[in-house]
Amino acid sequence: MTEALRNAVLIEDDKMTRRYVAMVLGGVGCQVWEAETAAQGVLAIALHRPELIVLDLGLPDRDGIEVIKELRQTDDTPILVLSARTEEVQKVEALDAGADDYLTKPFGVLELQSRIRVILRRTMRTNKATEGNGGPFETEDLRVDIQQRLVTLKGQAIHLTPLEYRILTLLVANAGRVLTHRQILQQIWGDGYMDRPHYLRVFMAGLRRKIEENPADPKYILTETGIGYRLASGRTVQR
Ligand code: CA
Repeated sequence: MTEALRNAVLIEDDKMTRRYVAMVLGGVGCQVWEAETAAQGVLAIALHRPELIVLDLGLPDRDGIEVIKELRQTDDTPILVLSARTEEVQKVEALDAGADDYLTKPFGVLELQSRIRVILRRTMRTNKATEGNGGPFETEDLRVDIQQRLVTLKGQAIHLTPLEYRILTLLVANAGRVLTHRQILQQIWGDGYMDRPHYLRVFMAGLRRKIEENPADPKYILTETGIGYRLASGRTVQR
């Protein structure tokens, strides 16, 4: 991949993890600025204006979620959260506060690379402001053409209800990235429904029955237990 070098700020107090993540970031073409504390990290962000922030939630000086909330007041730089397995609740909070994705420690190189690529690719797309006039989205046998309002599986048109279609297009816009239950509920039904994940489960089950070959073992709409859903990453096809 020949991409321009991009700035990334990595905020992680654990030295081993920091080295490891810095190496992977370097490998996908990022110039990495490392910070051990939230305070150093916030300073590095102001100084280097990164395209990506990788943030550990358990930092010695401040809670990572506070850092996200503060950053999101003025800044929409993508944030990838690193969290320990014991921080399940914080993960959801971090995503709801505006983090773009998360990884639970320990994670593998490929997993980390793919999350970083999804995030950076999405920012590039948004920066080019091609949203809405891009070609159809494709992942394996599933194709979603927003312009034509057409969803096909192995070339066969699939009939979706308006609500199912809205959920699917929201997932497509965030392909490869996790969306929390609250985020989906808020986007589709509005603020009053954010605490009703059972709504979502019903519609997701319906959607899966239509687009998954085996709804019990989905390969397109993946469940992130206790967190939300992630659409398999795919590609935008040229018209
Ligand atoms: Ca830590």
